[in-house]
This record gives sequence, structure tokens and C-alpha cells, in this order.
Amino acid sequence: MGHEIGDGTLAVGAGRPPAEKHAPGLPGPVFAAHYHLPGEPTGPYTYGRDTNPTWTLLERAIGELEGGAEVTAFSSGMAAVSAVLLSQVKAGDTVVLPDDCYQTTRALRGRLESYGVHVRTARTAGDAQLDALDGAALVWLETPSNPGLDVCDIARIAGAAHAAGALVAVDNTLATPLGQRPLDLGADFSVASDTKALTGHGDLMLGHVATRAPGLADAVRLWRKTVGAIPGPMEAWLAHRSLATLHLRLDRQAVNALALAGALLDRPEISGLRYPGLPGDPAHEPAARQMRRFGCVVSFTLPDEAHAERFLGALSLIDQATSFGSVHSSAERRGRWGGDAVAPGFVRFSVGVEDTADLLADVTAALSAAAEAP
Ligand code: PLP
Repeated sequence: MGHEIGDGTLAVGAGRPPAEKHAPGLPGPVFAAHYHLPGEPTGPYTYGRDTNPTWTLLERAIGELEGGAEVTAFSSGMAAVSAVLLSQVKAGDTVVLPDDCYQTTRALRGRLESYGVHVRTARTAGDAQLDALDGAALVWLETPSNPGLDVCDIARIAGAAHAAGALVAVDNTLATPLGQRPLDLGADFSVASDTKALTGHGDLMLGHVATRAPGLADAVRLWRKTVGAIPGPMEAWLAHRSLATLHLRLDRQAVNALALAGALLDRPEISGLRYPGLPGDPAHEPAARQMRRFGCVVSFTLPDEAHAERFLGALSLIDQATSFGSVHSSAERRGRWGGDAVAPGFVRFSVGVEDTADLLADVTAALSAAAEAP
């Protein structure tokens, strides 16, 4: 009987080249705009915008985490998102976007429409995309969604989308491939901002696109080469180094997130508490079917903007910052940006890897401080 290696072993070893005497386990970043290239210009390494050995190792690593896939790394999550959306559709095509996904993905709608692409939107909850598939060329899913933490059934929607002739892309930023594997669930593309939990230290920007279809991978690579949205070698190397702790970070974040959600459940000033890992959450059942870890984001609503700002200001261990997925906990009042359908007191809380008791003590103290009138 074959033995399937565990997530920790997979993460620690992902993308590392075979051992070679006197070579490091993970070769350092290669800084090169060009490579020695006499005669016929054959690959793999020709010009720095096309290929780089540090990207190659990172892309192999993420491909292994994705369950076997061809991966193209990008300079940011949005570079990866737009590479799929803009390389796969042409004038006259129809794209289905979630109306509650990351707001900058939704901001691509105007660009797509200016190119003659029709855009439809549907909610993430309740698999509402199923009613919007007719004639679509590409369906975009983001599950769990940011910031609302709704979940849709990837396998169900992918089956229906393929029957309707549409490709399916999943933004898997929140889950990472150790939380959920969209390609195993039938998606054509797994896309992510690796700025977030995959790299997990809040110190670099990166994204990737994974696919198992060689033709789709070629189109995405050509897109990267022609728009030049390439990662820096230093970021690619730092990202690869960070993957070795992915399972540890995700496991601790999941423990902390569930503990935080549990501690917030009975607070009278909190409404709309969401965490897909929380039994009883509206997304728990579909999440439990397709996710192996539920991520690090908890969201909830305080009575109003001032109350939420008092809470955020009273936290001492938790950074007030946007983004999520870092080893450092962070939180923000999401409504301060505009663009999301959230209440003024809505807080998106990204749980880090601090000790659970310290995190809960800080949050509880800040809630008590915020409850007192200013
Ligand atoms: N997708 C999701 C779900 C995100 O939350 C983000 C950023 O917040 C992005 C994509 C874009 O990623 P980046 O900021 O790395 O460009």
C-alpha cells in the first residue's frame, strides 16, 4: 500500500532540489536580468523577465502543495488575478464574478467591460453562481470570500460550469493549498495572493496561478511575459523559505481563530460573527466538506463605527492594519475603505500565531474598554 506523506513533510520539502554535495538545501536567490546565452537562444534561462531559477523552485514547491500543478508566480495577488481574467476572455465573452469578493478583483469589472466583455455578478453564499452560468466563458469564485467569509461549493459549481462550457477559477487566498485544493475539486485555475497566509510574515507581495491544463498554463505564462508582472527573486526566495512552516502557522492560526470566535459568541455587543470553522456558522457545512483548515480570518460587527474604533485602539498585541494571514494578528474596520457591503462597525480580524490565552485576554480587555462610553 502506498504511503501518502503528511502536510508537514510536504511543506518542509516542497520544491527543494535533489541533494547535491556542497550545494545548499535551498539555493539562494538568483539576481539576473540576463544569462550567458551564446548561439541559439534556447531555455530554460534566457532573459530575466521570462524565467528565473528562483521562480522555478518556488513554482515547483507551490505546484506540489496544490496537489500537482503547473504554477506561474506573479509580483502580487492582483497580478495573478488579472492574468487569469484578462488572458482567458475576449470581446463578446461573458464572465461571472462574485459580488462579494475582494474589492479590487471586482474593480476589474470596468476594465473587462471596456474591452467588450460582459460581466455578471452573483453572491458567494448558496451557490448563487449556478443561476448565472448560461453562456459564460469564465466563472470566478472566491471561497471563503473576503471579507464576508461566505463559502460556495466548488465541486458543484465547477461541474455545472463545465457542462455549460465555462472555465472555473478559484481565488484560494484565504485557505491556501493546505486548507483547500480547488484543482482537486474540479477548478481549472487556483489563484492566490501569496502576500497573505501562504507566505505569512506580512513582509512581501506575491501571487500565483496554478493549473493542470498545459494550454492554460502557457497562456498565463505568456501573459506574465508580455505584461512583465514578474516577482523579484528576493521575494520568491523568501516565499519559498516561508513555505516550510506553512502547516505550523495554519494549524496555530486555526486554533486561535476558533478560540477567538468561541470567545466572541456570547458577547452582547457583537453581531454577525463569522468563522467558517465554527459549528453553527452559516458556511460551516459547505466549508467542512471541501476545506481541511478553515483559515485565520474572523469577522464580526460592533454596534457602530466609533465603538469599533475604540475597540481597535484599545488592542495592544494586535496591529491595526489591512491584509491578513500574517503570523502577527491584525484587525481593521473594513468599512473605512468603502467598496464592501459591510456595516460601519464591521471588523475583519486576522489571527496570528501568538499564544491563544494572550490573544483572548487582549481582545477581551479591548472589548471591555470599548464598551465604556468615550
Ligand atoms: N485576492 C484576495 C482574496 C485578497 O484578499 C487580495 C488582497 O487583499 C488579493 C486577491 C490581492 O492580492 P495582493 O494584495 O497581493 O495584490
